[in-house]
Amino acid sequence: MTHTDTIAAIASASGAAGVGVLRVSGPAVPAIASEFLGRDPEPRRAYFAAFRDAHGELIDRGLLLYFPAPASYTGEHVLELQGHGSPVLLDALLRRVCAMGSRLARPGEFTERAFLNGKLDLAQAEAVADLIAARSQAGARAALQSMEGVFSRKVHELLQSLIALRVHIEAAIDFPEEEIDFLADPLIMQQLHALRVQLDDLLREAQRGVRLNDGLRVAIIGRPNAGKSSLLNALAGSDRAIVTDIAGTTRDVLREQLNLDGIALELADTAGLRETDDPVEREGVRRAHGELARADVALLVTDAEHAGHDLALLADLPANVERIVLINKIDLGSHAAQYDVRSDAIWVWASAKTGAGLDALRDHLKQLAGAGSGEGAFSARRRHVQALEQVHAHLASADHVLQATRAGELAAEELRQAQHALGEITGTYSSDDLLGAIFSSFCIGK
Ligand code: GDP
Repeated sequence: MTHTDTIAAIASASGAAGVGVLRVSGPAVPAIASEFLGRDPEPRRAYFAAFRDAHGELIDRGLLLYFPAPASYTGEHVLELQGHGSPVLLDALLRRVCAMGSRLARPGEFTERAFLNGKLDLAQAEAVADLIAARSQAGARAALQSMEGVFSRKVHELLQSLIALRVHIEAAIDFPEEEIDFLADPLIMQQLHALRVQLDDLLREAQRGVRLNDGLRVAIIGRPNAGKSSLLNALAGSDRAIVTDIAGTTRDVLREQLNLDGIALELADTAGLRETDDPVEREGVRRAHGELARADVALLVTDAEHAGHDLALLADLPANVERIVLINKIDLGSHAAQYDVRSDAIWVWASAKTGAGLDALRDHLKQLAGAGSGEGAFSARRRHVQALEQVHAHLASADHVLQATRAGELAAEELRQAQHALGEITGTYSSDDLLGAIFSSFCIGK
């Protein structure tokens, strides 16, 4: 795709470093570069240039870099002007560049052009924004991996396996006289099962990638007065939540962003989950359930006295949420700090008041958030996980159809849809709405 217009934006104005960068992309770039330099620039060479306005008046002096198409970020002719980091100078320079035949870029428009010109796929483009927005070191490292194409390559490998299977099955449909024998071939089922294993691995990695990217979402639940707010404060190291002795104080959802050794967590302290007639508190309970629906981890806070009764809350939790039971207030009893892996949940005995046992909880949360997940860990977004879940559902249907009826056409259709869902991750198939939603969330100049 070639764009006929040229876009320009301030790509960075770092006050501390005193440097401001203006980025320009499109067909007018060579003319703009020559005008500033007084001659044609050589590609990828840094020039010290005078940036002058239309009357020859000096706006600023700085570096000029020219990247001819297609070897540039956007795949178009790109010009970078580095001047002093003053917003006033950069603004004047931007107006000058616009007067020379370009227009202001929309948010994310440079990266959108890079995507449309095939310089990176959609998952990589999203990783650019995620890298800029990263809230933890682990998140930034993971986004960098995705930007480098680690995630996209795995999606592509899966796609190749899927296409190979599709070809196999469609060949069987095209030769109906052989169909029965062909679809009964154990190789096809083996191929499908291998594909499902490959997908499940990628789905798990992508789920971890979302946690690395967004931070692990932890919903703290439990009866009023169990010590939920105290725990949030202890983990966050501040007095963010109000702690009182009156049951039902935490009426709204309080959120805290935590950075535990370079890993991002988002803790939400929900209202107690008890039945109540108080309309305000009831609203809090409703929000607590909403919070659970989007959480990765449910952290049930109780104490030795109420544990027997409170464990019933575990039964109401969504199936795919990780569970932790925290027996709080051990400072009041004789139980020592302890960590136990049980079939219903991870159990931790601790005290929000003294801090005893909380290190074990922190370590477990870090692990769930993807700490120590190694070099290759990549970032992902929820929409990628949803697409992979669709692939999972289509492959499961294909499996069922082949086993139960050997209906090749139906299985082939499921695989076609699975392929489509995979293509949505990398942007082989994408709607304008989706692209608009993705790129408009970028900052200007990227
Ligand atoms: P929430 O309603 O679940 O948020 O509970 P709060 O955090 O407001 O705590 C209720 C009461 O229990 C407060 O008086 C806290 O000081 C107290 N509390 C919380 N954690 C502990 C603990 O570990 N030990 C003791 N002794 N008291 C605690």
